[in-house]
Amino acid sequence: MSLSEFTTQPLKPLPRISPSRYLSLQQCPLKGIWASSRQPLLPCYPAAYLGSAIHRMLEMAFQSRISNRDELSDAWEDEIERREKEMLNNPVEKHLVPLQMSVSNFEVKKLLAFKMIYSLFSNIPSRKSGNSKSGAEDWVQTPNGKVAGRIDLVKKSDSGVEIVDFKTGPLSDDASPGNAKEEYLMQVKMYAALYHAMHGEWPVTLTLVGINQESITIDVEPEVCAKLLQEAEKSLDDINELIETGLKPEDFAQPSPEACKYCLFRPACNKYWKSRQEDGNWPADARGRITDKTMLANGLFRVVITTDPGEIAIRGLSPERHPFLKDEIESALFCNLWNEKPEGFFVEKMFTTGYVLE
Ligand code: SF4
Repeated sequence: MSLSEFTTQPLKPLPRISPSRYLSLQQCPLKGIWASSRQPLLPCYPAAYLGSAIHRMLEMAFQSRISNRDELSDAWEDEIERREKEMLNNPVEKHLVPLQMSVSNFEVKKLLAFKMIYSLFSNIPSRKSGNSKSGAEDWVQTPNGKVAGRIDLVKKSDSGVEIVDFKTGPLSDDASPGNAKEEYLMQVKMYAALYHAMHGEWPVTLTLVGINQESITIDVEPEVCAKLLQEAEKSLDDINELIETGLKPEDFAQPSPEACKYCLFRPACNKYWKSRQEDGNWPADARGRITDKTMLANGLFRVVITTDPGEIAIRGLSPERHPFLKDEIESALFCNLWNEKPEGFFVEKMFTTGYVLE
């Protein structure tokens, strides 16, 4: 899809919101609105695909669809192949296949995930034992379905319900080791409230488990969890009401380095381009008029672009990844560049994505 097609499509109301998307919606409503109904314009980080594959294996292990190492290996191969096929069909992601090459420390992460899943074969099966019972990927929602999601694991015992959320990234920020990341806390608390909304019972414990099997336990404070859920429902209603009034994408955009850094819709977001600053806090993106374009001896393009603050040069641009460079074009944008020294010089990296501007 071209950028102009993307930006002229009307915004669609959000059908529902999940705990994992709520923070993103709070940071920038436009990101949440687009993410609920549009294909991203930038490649997803392959580590996210790896994370989804690991979650899929956990789900299968809890459902007893895999119960030994051979079955896990086979299921893993199938899942990675399926993910890679999806990526090959996406023009901005196909060069990231195979995942083994594009995910840093792929084998280490795979081994850690396998180790965690092996431990589940013997410790947390999805079957009943004594008064304990565990269930995986439990779908929970509010009565009106406006907030909903899937809990990784629900463990029931005589002492009550425990909600377990598996994370493939670090559980803590570097600045606060041992404490769960704010976004993870918010998610798991919303799951607690959703579980209560669905089953009428508050969990007694919330546990975050990392890929290296570290874990953080969080106390359940029903009032705090219930308030979060109410706020999420209200956000959804407020945003949908505003969409119905015909507000434009710009009216929902809330650019900030934190929100935009991982936003996969930056190419189409005018407010982002107007707000971004040329400093290390904002993503290394550039757009403007192409004043020079040369194919170098290595078969890669070097372009000079006149941007708002001034001229910049980008080298190493692959014609396979950016076929529009072979045509006569006036303007273009590139996201996810690598900022070289001296200032104003950039080079293509693995996630660099370009669009022609019409
Ligand atoms: S680029 Fe920034 S402002 Fe635009 S939608 Fe994404 S997060 Fe929001």
